[in-house]
Amino acid sequence: MSEHSQIEMTEMKYGKDRPEAKHKLMIEDVSLRDGHQSLFATRGRTEDMIPVAERMDEIGFWAVEVWGGATFDVMHRFLGEDPWERLRTLKRYFKKTPFSMLLRGQNLVGYRNYADDVAKLFVKKTVDNGMEVFRTFDALNDFRNFETVVPVIKECGAHFQGCICYSLTEARIGGDVYNLEYYIKKAKELEDMGADSICIKDMAGLIAPYDAYKLIKALKDNVKPLIHLHSHSTSGMSPMTHFKAIEAGVDIIDTCMTPYAYRTSHAAVEPFVMSLLGTNRDTGFDINALADINEILEKEVMPKYKHLLDDTKVSVIDINVLLHQTPGGMLSNLVNQLKEMDALDKLDEVYKQLPKVRKELGQVPLVTPTSQIVGIQTVNNVLFDTPEERYKMVTAQVKDLCYGLYGKTSIPIDPEVQKKALKGYDRGEDPITCRPAEVLEPELEKAKKEIGDLAVDDEDLIVYALFPVTGKKYLMQKYGKEQVPESVKPITLEDVEKQTQMIDKAKKGLLVEKFKAEDMPEKSEYARTFNVFVEDEYFEVGVDEVGGAPVITYAAAAAPAQAPVAPVAPVAAPVAPAPAPTASKPAPAVKEEPKQEAAPAASAGTPVKAPMPGMVIKYEKNVGDSVNEGETVVVIEAMKMENALPAPTSGVIQAVNYNSGDSVAKDDVLAVIE
Ligand code: MN
Repeated sequence: MSEHSQIEMTEMKYGKDRPEAKHKLMIEDVSLRDGHQSLFATRGRTEDMIPVAERMDEIGFWAVEVWGGATFDVMHRFLGEDPWERLRTLKRYFKKTPFSMLLRGQNLVGYRNYADDVAKLFVKKTVDNGMEVFRTFDALNDFRNFETVVPVIKECGAHFQGCICYSLTEARIGGDVYNLEYYIKKAKELEDMGADSICIKDMAGLIAPYDAYKLIKALKDNVKPLIHLHSHSTSGMSPMTHFKAIEAGVDIIDTCMTPYAYRTSHAAVEPFVMSLLGTNRDTGFDINALADINEILEKEVMPKYKHLLDDTKVSVIDINVLLHQTPGGMLSNLVNQLKEMDALDKLDEVYKQLPKVRKELGQVPLVTPTSQIVGIQTVNNVLFDTPEERYKMVTAQVKDLCYGLYGKTSIPIDPEVQKKALKGYDRGEDPITCRPAEVLEPELEKAKKEIGDLAVDDEDLIVYALFPVTGKKYLMQKYGKEQVPESVKPITLEDVEKQTQMIDKAKKGLLVEKFKAEDMPEKSEYARTFNVFVEDEYFEVGVDEVGGAPVITYAAAAAPAQAPVAPVAPVAAPVAPAPAPTASKPAPAVKEEPKQEAAPAASAGTPVKAPMPGMVIKYEKNVGDSVNEGETVVVIEAMKMENALPAPTSGVIQAVNYNSGDSVAKDDVLAVIE
């Protein structure tokens, strides 16, 4: 019915100065957030964004996504960077293009719902530091989780983009839950909340081209805000999907610069620019200017990140998402979990059970964190359920979900599963129906007291309030109270060059590092000469320990007369004489002790064994405590989900074999009851 649905060729010129198209396709570049988050585990550094920032600002993007999602966490935790500083720095280079961020609703940029006072201050400070577009989503599409942040976004004069997480229960749009009516209803809710634009957030790359066409058209016909499509290349459908969306009249799409594109990331921008050239949807972009940016990224930036690319596979797409609708990240988690438990043969059973568990848990969209919650619970069910009892091992996160702590699920949770999960739950056995953050106490004052003067401003305070452990550590480093560890320091192009040379050498079998004559250090008074025999060759080697006393002396005593230096020592390491490590090495095989001893002890009582590998979170019972069958003895974490392990029998705790924070293997005896 509308003009949007036609792609027309026009009489336009193709040059840089061509006139603006009638219904220009707008593009948001997401290279500097979702791009490197998808391909390089969010490890992109600010200094590597600066070389292209001014050029990107000239392109004419609708917005650039530079912040939010995992960036805040990764920057302070792994890169030693102040997330706020990135915003301020990039703002000096991007003078025209608005900044966009991914906001996880009441989760902000973390993994749980934060209290309202934290959420309000976060949004306000984010605007103060230069943010303009807030792409806001909730994993359950429960927009009550937007109620605190949206008024602040609006009051600050920023753009509220409301997201609908795209989800399916079958191969195509439709069915009882995620049908066209669902998405239209959700879009209308967002419009009523004052959304300036509405985004379909297809985080797993599930949306098929003709579904995208149908959906975008329906949204254009039913709501007024701009319609934006965000999809990933994971399944390989995304360029086709975007094209059908363009034909249906989508206003904005997300793309990446080529070096940040495809695989689990997004479609590249350049093919769209070329495909739409001279049509009524022409982007107006200068393809040569884009090529210049690619060249800089390819030569000056990408070499530093190449090692982070997952190059274990030749395929650039993952068809599992088409077969099982399992998003890429979720699939690798399931496989890892099963592998660690020697149960990889159960993968098919997990695939089979997954839709059932998901349905019982309210048919939630599969996006972080719900994909994890459903996936791991399914693994638990497949491995631990018996014919008599289902949901034998319920994770803490499933309990929270059943309580209503994440929000309202798409369909009601199965009442029996809910009842079982909430038995003995510490917040209460009756689920809540209110907005989740209503049960959360304010957090800011408490955080302020705890962090004290270490937080110099509100930005510091937020770092701590969102991430108390890693945030505090980062602030200590920021203010020089703790040293910045080597691991967070950036690598340079020179480092990369050196590594490449080393790899080349290794490949040619030239592992010996030869030094240039002019770099040769002076021979010290401790230098000793040795004859080294390697098979039928013979070398005379001068050994002079770098920086100190001659450790070599004990080599002579230990070695047989024929070969003064231990003959097994690699000739390639003249500065590190082999005997030293042998001499100082402690007797091995002591640390396995608790496991070995616990096993025989089991005969004297009933062991509480780890059903899966993981980390001990806490013991609920200590030695001497009496315990009833079914009561929680210990909580272990596996794949980020917490599992409470019940007492297999009643009695008194005789032994507790680990501490909080210890890693345990499957079948390790965690405690003994008698
Ligand atoms: Mn995404």
